[in-house]
Amino acid sequence: MIERLPEESPGEATVVTELLPSGWLRVCVPLPYSLRFVNSYLVPEPEGDWTVIDPGLNTEEARALWLAELDKLGIRQGALRRVLLTHQHPDHYGLAGWFQQQFACPVWMTEKAHRYAKRMWGAGSRFPLELGDWFGRHGMPAELLEQLEPHLQSFRERVEPQPEVSYLTAGSRLELGGENWSLIDAPGHAGGALCFYSESSRTMVVGDQVLLRITPNISLVPGPEEDANPLHSYLTSLQDLSGYVTERVYPGHRAPFTDLARRAREITGHHERRLEHLLGLLRQREAATAFELCELEFGSHLRRNIHNLRFAMSETLAHLAYLENEGKAEQGDEGGFVRFRAVTAGDPERGGE
Ligand SMILES: [Zn+2]
Repeated sequence: MIERLPEESPGEATVVTELLPSGWLRVCVPLPYSLRFVNSYLVPEPEGDWTVIDPGLNTEEARALWLAELDKLGIRQGALRRVLLTHQHPDHYGLAGWFQQQFACPVWMTEKAHRYAKRMWGAGSRFPLELGDWFGRHGMPAELLEQLEPHLQSFRERVEPQPEVSYLTAGSRLELGGENWSLIDAPGHAGGALCFYSESSRTMVVGDQVLLRITPNISLVPGPEEDANPLHSYLTSLQDLSGYVTERVYPGHRAPFTDLARRAREITGHHERRLEHLLGLLRQREAATAFELCELEFGSHLRRNIHNLRFAMSETLAHLAYLENEGKAEQGDEGGFVRFRAVTAGDPERGGE
């Protein structure tokens, strides 16, 4: 979830920034959400062409920006080698198909991430209805559920046209910008997400897995293929990523930074505090729905912003799933709603909390 910190703006004059010493270009592509920008990276290849990483959301403003910037850089047909995607969220994936059309280039992502994209935005997707039903059982009021489906459907036009995809595999390696990169599985924020790591330059492209100033959203979503404990996967991934020495970390939002392990520790601490707070809320009451807990945790002002409310709701559910998995909370069906309660009855192993 977005922490309430002062907005840091890259400023209108810095749409494209050259990152030194890599020579990569960071392109701040506009988003019509409170995040405001996504970072795309244009990577110069030794052969004189370019790779683009995470081109952004398909809006008129973003397309106009890309056309102008690519023209200024002299990147035309044949000069774009490929699109690489760290993950399938629309703010990263949305323009991939448009780039493929413009430049007749391949688009690469993991098969798992692609499956998720098709589930969300494929023809006849039932995901908006499934999410609405599920949030309803978790206590979200009908007037908010009514906004959810059209909101989710509105992403469809922002990811069209959808690309034909070639598959990247976690654990394999990739030549990019004259360096050899390992592809690291990075679950928790998005199933099938990848980070790219170059040992020679100690650089990591992290997508949204680790961001400065904001904590990446961790969402529990319904579905048999979905991660049942995404927060656990995420915290495990942060630990894994902390084992890599970094001098340059290129994130999907906000500024690049240097010390990945330090930021990973801060984000881990944030989730530990939130888990403790949520457990405290559960202990103060008989039982509560995820929606009630979400409002207690994030505030009822989110009712006015269905986009952020959806993330807050899924994040609350991810934290509840983590607590359940640890044996600290349990859920039951009461009057058609799922309610959570703290597990308190004498368990000596957990007695000292
Ligand atoms: Zn993002």
